[in-house]
Amino acid sequence: MKLMPSCEEVSRLLSKALDEPLGLLDRGMLQVHLSMCGSCRNVDAQLRELHGMAQDLFAAGPADDAHAHRARASHRSARRE
Ligand SMILES: [Zn+2]
Repeated sequence: MKLMPSCEEVSRLLSKALDEPLGLLDRGMLQVHLSMCGSCRNVDAQLRELHGMAQDLFAAGPADDAHAHRARASHRSARRE
C-alpha cells in the first residue's frame, strides 16, 4: 500500500469521486495529497466546478418543465370560468 499517490492517481480518484463515493482509504490519500499539492487542488476545484455546472443544467430541466405544466393548467382553468 502506497501512502502517497501520484498526481496521476489523484486526478483519477478525483474524477472517480464525482461518480461514486470513495472508500475511506482513497479519501484519506486524496486529502493528504491535496494538502501538499497545489496543482491537484486546482484540478479538484475545476472538476467540482464543471460537475456543479452539469448538475445545475440537469436540475433546471425538470423544474422548467413543471413550471410550463402549471402555466398550461392555469390557462385551461381560466378558460373554463
Ligand atoms: Zn498532485
